[in-house]
Amino acid sequence: MEATVTTPVDITAVLSKRPLIISGPCSAETEEQVLATATRLAATGKVDALRAGIWKPRTRPGSFEGIGTKGLPWLQQAKKLTGLPTAVEVATGKQVEDALHFEVDILWIGARTTVNPFSVQEVADALRGANVPVLIKNPINPDLELWTGAVERVAKAGIKTIGLIHRGFSSYGNTEYRNAPMWHLGIEMRRRNPELLMVCDPSHMAGRRDILQDTAQRAVDLGYDGLMIESHIDPDKAWSDAKQQVTPEKLAEMLDSIKWRH
Ligand code: PEP
Ligand code: MN
Repeated sequence: MEATVTTPVDITAVLSKRPLIISGPCSAETEEQVLATATRLAATGKVDALRAGIWKPRTRPGSFEGIGTKGLPWLQQAKKLTGLPTAVEVATGKQVEDALHFEVDILWIGARTTVNPFSVQEVADALRGANVPVLIKNPINPDLELWTGAVERVAKAGIKTIGLIHRGFSSYGNTEYRNAPMWHLGIEMRRRNPELLMVCDPSHMAGRRDILQDTAQRAVDLGYDGLMIESHIDPDKAWSDAKQQVTPEKLAEMLDSIKWRH
């Protein structure tokens, strides 16, 4: 039997780590995959929180749209096994309720949700009274007002700990990046909100493994507080975002190769 960790997670302490490293699969797929990923990430000693998509906003129907609520106990189990706090994307009020019910430690609002004030408001209403940190990804289009509006809606719901995730902006056609970083927009958002945690998600910017490290390095050079990077035990077989995920061990290597500022 592997040892289980029973001490409650001090999420404020976790979020104040620098650099803050959040990693895990694009999607939770099976219990074994979640537990194996969490165990291997924890073994690197370089990861502060475990991310996993439970409900996936896929561009086209027919793709894997997430395992749904039944995956939340797997995350609870992963936390018990490793002590890693968990992070999940929420896009509806029901998803917020379910994530909180299963004690997810960090919620994030995805780029396809930040873009829609009705959806953000629904999430914010469901968050009212909850004591949970919420990270807000930039909207898919380069509009800082929408990003700001999402921050304001969540803040008005009484959420005290809010962070930003810069994941880049979508455009038409084949481009070098899956989502253009437009670094100046991240920098400007940070200038406007110096008190907010600012994390970069180079996985969704790059969309591919070969430029992932350089993209992460750029964010570090710009002084971002942390990175959210997708990892998978068998990246090529991932049920979503297969091209951009790396194994936990590859992630550790990458983090070792990055030149940190401090
Ligand atoms: C994700 O984090 O897997 C995701 C769906 O990201 P985004 O909202 O940045 O597209
Ligand atoms: Mn993804």
